Amino acid sequence: MASRDPIADLRRIAFMLERANEATYRVRAFRSAAAKIAELDEEELVARAGEGTLGEISGIGAVTARCIAESLAGEEPVYLRRLESTEGVDLQGAARKLREALRGDCHCHSDWSDGGSPIEEMALAAADLGHEYLVLTDHSPRLTVANGLPAARLRKQLDYVARLNDQLPDGFRILTGIEVDILDDGSLDQEDALLERLDVVVGSVHSKLRDESPRMTKRMVNAIANPHLDILGHMTGRKVAASGAGDRGHRAGRTRPPSTFDLDKVIAAVLEHGKAIEINSRPDRLDPPKRMLTVAVEAGCLFSVDTDAHAPGQLDWLGFGCERAALCNVPVENVVNTWSMERLLEWTAGHGAQKA
Ligand SMILES: [Zn+2]
Ligand SMILES: [Zn+2]
Repeated sequence: MASRDPIADLRRIAFMLERANEATYRVRAFRSAAAKIAELDEEELVARAGEGTLGEISGIGAVTARCIAESLAGEEPVYLRRLESTEGVDLQGAARKLREALRGDCHCHSDWSDGGSPIEEMALAAADLGHEYLVLTDHSPRLTVANGLPAARLRKQLDYVARLNDQLPDGFRILTGIEVDILDDGSLDQEDALLERLDVVVGSVHSKLRDESPRMTKRMVNAIANPHLDILGHMTGRKVAASGAGDRGHRAGRTRPPSTFDLDKVIAAVLEHGKAIEINSRPDRLDPPKRMLTVAVEAGCLFSVDTDAHAPGQLDWLGFGCERAALCNVPVENVVNTWSMERLLEWTAGHGAQKA
């Protein structure tokens, strides 16, 4: 029997565990084993599988060794088969149509900030999902708990992404971006010159989420009016008990109520400045709540359905956002990541032009 690609099988297992919202540490064994055997030549691997000594390679444990041996023997690893048999249900109707129309994702994190995987792993997973682009939006400096990038590191990242884009498959591109903190006064936590250079800017509130409504409203409206901001990230900051498909409940309990602000004023600012409201697909966020989303739809806002992925498998969470969007009748044409990459970039560049 022809052997399967053990690297692809290990990566697929990692992807599926991440998609099921398993903690990064549980997934790491599979990702690091894949990276490890990518360095070895196939002959050695096959020989070791024959001798039963795969587990002696540092970074390969009993479970990953068994998966590799099964792949090399041409069998689908049992571990992978078991995961695939418990896969989630398919999307239906309008949610499915929207998912099929999405061309990319405008919000994700790599291990440069608080994500669990290198940029290239995120990019390859996105390309595998059929995305045309992935906007890399690591955190800004003030968010030290999430290892936010100071200006110098972000500059370094931009050079790195430029080089990486030359090596990636045709028809796929990493777009540069940031999830910039909206500071107490509504200003954005990064140098203007740098924000100007980025393809897409997502702005989010991560601190003082309990600010009283008039203060929070002013803060958000100021940020939306800032020509650098394109997308308002997870607008209420709420955390819900994750109940997404496959979730094992390890995140349950860490909930947070939505912040309070004048929704009409925030929506008016979004419309006035031509910005988009993010529909955050994370099972522990699902932000904005449906009643707010419905008001924004009726007002005619633009939206971006994003995953806020912190691991490659989480990039497949778009379906959760699509289900909510469909439930609230979000028109497909108002979702900026259904647009072509050219149109998306024209739209974001247009916000900077308003500054003049
Ligand atoms: Zn965030
Ligand atoms: Zn984020």
